[in-house]
Amino acid sequence: MPRIIVLGAGIGGISMAYELRETVGRQADITVVSDSEWFQFVPSNPWVALGWRKPADIKVHLPGTLAKYGIGFDAAGARRLLPAENAIELNDGRRLSYDYLVIATGPALAFDEIPGLGPQANTVSICHVDHAEKAAERWERFCENPGPIVIGAVQGASCFGPAYEFAMMVNTDLRRRKIRDKVPITFVTSEPYIGHLGLGGVGDTKSLLESELRERDIKWLTNARVDQIDSDAVACTEIGADGKPGPQHRLPARLAMFIPAFRGVPCLMGEDGKGLPGLANPRGFVVVDAHQRNPTYKNVFAVGVCIAIPPYEQTPVPVGVPKTGYMIESMVTAVAHNIAALVAGKAPEREPTWNAVCLADFGNDGVAFVALPQIPPRNVNWSGRGYWVHAAKVGFEKYFLRKVRNGTSAPIYERAVMKMLGIDKLRKDARPPKKAA
Ligand SMILES: Cc1cc2nc3c(=O)[nH]c(=O)nc-3n(C[C@H](O)[C@H](O)[C@H](O)COP(=O)(O)OP(=O)(O)OC[C@H]3O[C@@H](n4cnc5c(N)ncnc54)[C@H](O)[C@@H]3O)c2cc1C
Repeated sequence: MPRIIVLGAGIGGISMAYELRETVGRQADITVVSDSEWFQFVPSNPWVALGWRKPADIKVHLPGTLAKYGIGFDAAGARRLLPAENAIELNDGRRLSYDYLVIATGPALAFDEIPGLGPQANTVSICHVDHAEKAAERWERFCENPGPIVIGAVQGASCFGPAYEFAMMVNTDLRRRKIRDKVPITFVTSEPYIGHLGLGGVGDTKSLLESELRERDIKWLTNARVDQIDSDAVACTEIGADGKPGPQHRLPARLAMFIPAFRGVPCLMGEDGKGLPGLANPRGFVVVDAHQRNPTYKNVFAVGVCIAIPPYEQTPVPVGVPKTGYMIESMVTAVAHNIAALVAGKAPEREPTWNAVCLADFGNDGVAFVALPQIPPRNVNWSGRGYWVHAAKVGFEKYFLRKVRNGTSAPIYERAVMKMLGIDKLRKDARPPKKAA
């Protein structure tokens, strides 16, 4: 029986394991290898950081859950990938071989690239639930002795939505505590303009998000390169359209949160730290073709934040393309069908749409966007705001955690709603690769 290893147990990895169980049935052995026994619902981390959720609310213990659905689980984590030998070496020295590998290891957080960045230094983080838990303790201390806050996303970042969410939620929480008047907030971003999001904007996100920031008295700086973060200030430089440094700023900050740049996890960086040859690019992101398959190692697929996508356009300060939840699910669906085809001796034909449906919660209301596909030019390009977005995001959190606990990738009613809205996960014009392997 072919053995499929799914490496990583986040939004991509867990959806992958469940969807493979549906597409390959019992004709393959499926094992998830992660470096933790827990699934965390990353989009809820900003709520954890403000004490609106406890970590336990957004975590699922995986060993027992996966066993119920006939999926093996190992929490040792991968130390080295050996794609030429169809094997991975685990952190405890064991070696697992596979017929098919799906890499879903998400990002490594490149805090080390800027002095003072990261929870071990002078900023709080919402990228991991453990960071968010520490941020919540810090938040309570801050509220006892409030002062200026700086929030944003640094050069090379690709995940801008959560930075906006956090800035707006902080505003909501401070207003509820009636101390907003004591807290000047500045949003500092590497984006060329507010609402660019690494994507050239979606619908009218530029004016929409500018207006949301203005309504909340949040000042902003764009085209910003963060130079250093001290315990009481953020030093940054505005970069001009010609790429030359412009005005420098030293923004007082009693609290700062920045989304860092991402890179591949250590086992994708290779011996020389320049990307595993044939598999990953120099930044450690897995190279995939239109079928989410690595062109060198054709039994290796990848889904989620760990895949390589070139920047959408050149900007004065580098920004990356975000990999969002529904887009990741479209990658998962394509890979599940493609591996099932290979197991059945056929060519992999399915291509993901990379459609994006995103909800950015601001604590009481929020902004939603639909980008079909996520990277322009698009067939659908829509953004909107309203109180319903907050309710929808809470509903989505409950719904996704239920899917993880219940072993389903996309229940029938989700498929029906998306079909009704014309939002597909698979491209209708997909073609098999020229030479089937
Ligand atoms: C704060 C935040 C909020 C976000 N909010 C939204 C949102 O609201 N909507 C949206 O669409 N997108 C959102 N995103 C973007 C995206 O949906 C998430 O980043 C999502 O978690 C990505 O899923 P993933 O599976 O690629 O990576 P992850 O969820 O990071 O999962 C990676 C997995 O790999 C494991 N792993 C890592 N290294 C190893 C190893 N060596 N061996 C084995 N396992 C390993 C990890 O433990 C983890 O289980 C958000 C991102 C962030 C950072």
